[in-house]
Amino acid sequence: MHQFDYVIVGGGSAGCVLASRLSEDTAVTVLLIEAGDPDGPALMRDPSAWGDQVIPEIHWGSSTVPQPGLGGRSLPYPRGKVLGGSSAINGMILLPTLPSDLDDWVANGAMGWDADALAPCAARVRGLGDGQTPATPSVHAGQQGVSATPFASALVAALKDDGLWHDAQVHDLMIVDGRRETVADAYLPPSVLARPNLTVRAATSVVRVALSGDRCIGVEAATPTGVELIGASREVLLAAGAIGSPRILLASGIGPADHLGEVGIEVAVDSPGVGARLQDHAKQPLVLRPGSTATTSHGQFAEVSALLQTADEPHARVQLLSLASGFKPAGAPPFPGFGFVLNVIDPMSRGTVRLRDSDPSSQPLIDPDILGDPSDASVLVAAIRAARDVIASPHLAPFRGEELVPGHASTDDELEQAVRRTAGTYFHPYGSCRMGQAPDAPLDVDLSVRGVIGLRVVDASVIPGRVSVNPHATVLAIAERAADLITQARG
Ligand SMILES: Cc1cc2nc3c(=O)[nH]c(=O)nc-3n(C[C@H](O)[C@H](O)[C@H](O)COP(=O)(O)OP(=O)(O)OC[C@H]3O[C@@H](n4cnc5c(N)ncnc54)[C@H](O)[C@@H]3O)c2cc1C
Repeated sequence: MHQFDYVIVGGGSAGCVLASRLSEDTAVTVLLIEAGDPDGPALMRDPSAWGDQVIPEIHWGSSTVPQPGLGGRSLPYPRGKVLGGSSAINGMILLPTLPSDLDDWVANGAMGWDADALAPCAARVRGLGDGQTPATPSVHAGQQGVSATPFASALVAALKDDGLWHDAQVHDLMIVDGRRETVADAYLPPSVLARPNLTVRAATSVVRVALSGDRCIGVEAATPTGVELIGASREVLLAAGAIGSPRILLASGIGPADHLGEVGIEVAVDSPGVGARLQDHAKQPLVLRPGSTATTSHGQFAEVSALLQTADEPHARVQLLSLASGFKPAGAPPFPGFGFVLNVIDPMSRGTVRLRDSDPSSQPLIDPDILGDPSDASVLVAAIRAARDVIASPHLAPFRGEELVPGHASTDDELEQAVRRTAGTYFHPYGSCRMGQAPDAPLDVDLSVRGVIGLRVVDASVIPGRVSVNPHATVLAIAERAADLITQARG
């Protein structure tokens, strides 16, 4: 049996950070296991082809179960399956975690995850070290010096003129020299991959974790010749994402006893919170026929974002993201004009990740319950009205044309129907295996799985509260902090 100090499951955004940081100590051995290939196709690196990039070779091909809040529609639910994970298929937008969101995490029981604790980790993600030495490796977003297009400048001006929007900005993108930078590119450059204490095994899928009593002793991985046991003498770190990690825990008998009973899996730890409280940001498109062409600097589709906060709300509940001409949603014609997506960044809806059956090759049942809570639809109705006011701004006169989606809807009722017909997912699953102090939180605040020794989860599933921006930078900061916690635990 192969044996390592640490076995990391999932070479996605969080897993690449962990592998890089933990293998800095030459005294420990680290194995990173990724189900997908070590490299994706060349198209994956072309920022202008984003919509086309969600291609079969590099994602899991999952869909949601029918969503009652969307009139029973099922949504394609891509998640990266390649070294780099979802950072290889995402929209490349990198926005920092809001300190007020971390207050919300602490209020949800995540003691020690306040803004002060996360700040140095977030700084390391961006290459800022301890003030004297730069942190390496790190991501390079925002170091491009690309200037905003006329469309982006006009939109930021229109948003700033309107009193309801804040944080209007041309945001950073994970694009370096005109190419997508995945987290694998950033954190696992050849110099890191050459470390003798780091092993990367791609195209290897973990079926379940291996338990001996209450200790996790390794993982069972599917290989062409059967299931292989790989040992972890210190810890197994699940970084398989907000769908993948709860799925592995459930398959290992760690989860709600009633659900495990339904699918015929023996219960190792009755943990009701595993796969519960799945959250996602609902996304509502607002599309205009072009007046004149709205382009972006990088060829990437979305340069500007802002948050919408009405006077009676304690914090923003909707983010606006710009869309420019030429964006090619997967399987659809090029985007006709300019527009926005309006995203519920503080959803009240809560969904689940469940197993279909005990077959490890079956797709999990993914239910983000998009717009399941009526207030999520109401905030989108209000957001469409607020966005139409922005479109009416003189700054945008050269660009605007007729509204195509949601089109002519204007009353509350018409707008809500349009929302339920046209809203979708912003592809931001999180919270399905949260840390906290509540009895049903599956993880302790050091991200260890309650009831099991030597097992942690480190990815988007651990997020216990609000994420008011696109979550990637937050996931990377979580992984940086987790690496610190794991290193400290070693003494
Ligand atoms: C289409 C899309 C667009 C997005 N756009 C943005 C954006 O522009 N900005 C932003 O901030 N966020 C964006 N996100 C979200 C962001 O990319 C994710 O929140 C983040 O990458 C999640 O990181 P993770 O480590 O939790 O999971 P992932 O990066 O998904 O990594 C999980 C990894 O585990 C592997 N894995 C899973 N199961 C197993 C198994 N059984 N065995 C072995 N390996 C396994 C997977 O193949 C994958 O590589 C987007 C996401 C998607 C899908």
